[in-house]
Amino acid sequence: MATLCAGDALPSIRLPFRPLFAALLLAGLCAPALAAGPACYPPQALAAKQGEEIVRPHTGGPGQLPDISVPASAPVPAALRGSIRRVDLPPGVKMVALTFDLCEASSETSGYDGALVDYLRSEGVAATFFAGGKWMVSHPERGGQLTADPGFEMGNHTWSHANLTVKTGEAMRRQVDDADIGLALGRKQAEAKGCMLPKPQAISLFRFPYGSCSAESLNYVNDTGHLAIQWDVDSGDPAFIGAKGMADDMLRGIKPGSIVLMHANGRGKHTAEALKILIPALRAKGYRFATVGQLLAAGTPVIAQTCYSLKPGDTRIYDEAARTGKRILPVQ
Ligand SMILES: [Zn+2]
Repeated sequence: MATLCAGDALPSIRLPFRPLFAALLLAGLCAPALAAGPACYPPQALAAKQGEEIVRPHTGGPGQLPDISVPASAPVPAALRGSIRRVDLPPGVKMVALTFDLCEASSETSGYDGALVDYLRSEGVAATFFAGGKWMVSHPERGGQLTADPGFEMGNHTWSHANLTVKTGEAMRRQVDDADIGLALGRKQAEAKGCMLPKPQAISLFRFPYGSCSAESLNYVNDTGHLAIQWDVDSGDPAFIGAKGMADDMLRGIKPGSIVLMHANGRGKHTAEALKILIPALRAKGYRFATVGQLLAAGTPVIAQTCYSLKPGDTRIYDEAARTGKRILPVQ
């Protein structure tokens, strides 16, 4: 479940129209208690473990759906429906949201990039993680730690990284609903460790795998109370661009209100090293780091009625696929 901060004032329908009010809430209520991770976990439990980032073939049958019921949410208000690309901020406000996908397809058990998360924590950098439900089940301890971290927020990235342009009907709906159950498992894990979590928000966050949706799936995501969060800066981190090249590209692309796409599931190559260049450089330019929820609270979202992967330039990965003749919309 995403933890949009500022309690139930967020993200009400007022938000896009009262950015200043929201910004005040942000300053007063959302001041992130950023330290070296959630206090309910000992530092040695939080620390990266060698080899944990490795993506492995899935063995032992499909991930087990936890037996947890998730209450239904109200639909997203009309003003926030569609796919959110970035946020327009008041003049002079320099905030950016770094987002990290934790994708896990049915054919694999993906990793956990502990070096990356350790660095974010050590620098007190806020971040949003979009987790697959299956990832949450295969990484219960890490899922609990991320959920409990006051500097981080969690969002839904479908159960098993399905392409929701291709999946329809019940199969599509299960991908969305089952991932919410996976996220609820993260809360349960954290609470079992004695972590005090904020109340789940009525409206949560969602990211489409491949940035790809149909009108049906976009409507369903919004109807079930999820804001569809895309990005305006793609790190391209699954490709071997190298840390410096990646950081330089991101620095060129990032503007105040940007939402940046990266991976923390071991699919990102050089992502942790790139962050060590990117984060100090952004700070030197006067940027502050925000979760997506905090960014939304500070301004007006820029919303499209279609998702990505429709045209060249939408995402690097699809452009690369188009160049190499690989399938652009993989079916999961
Ligand atoms: Zn993904």
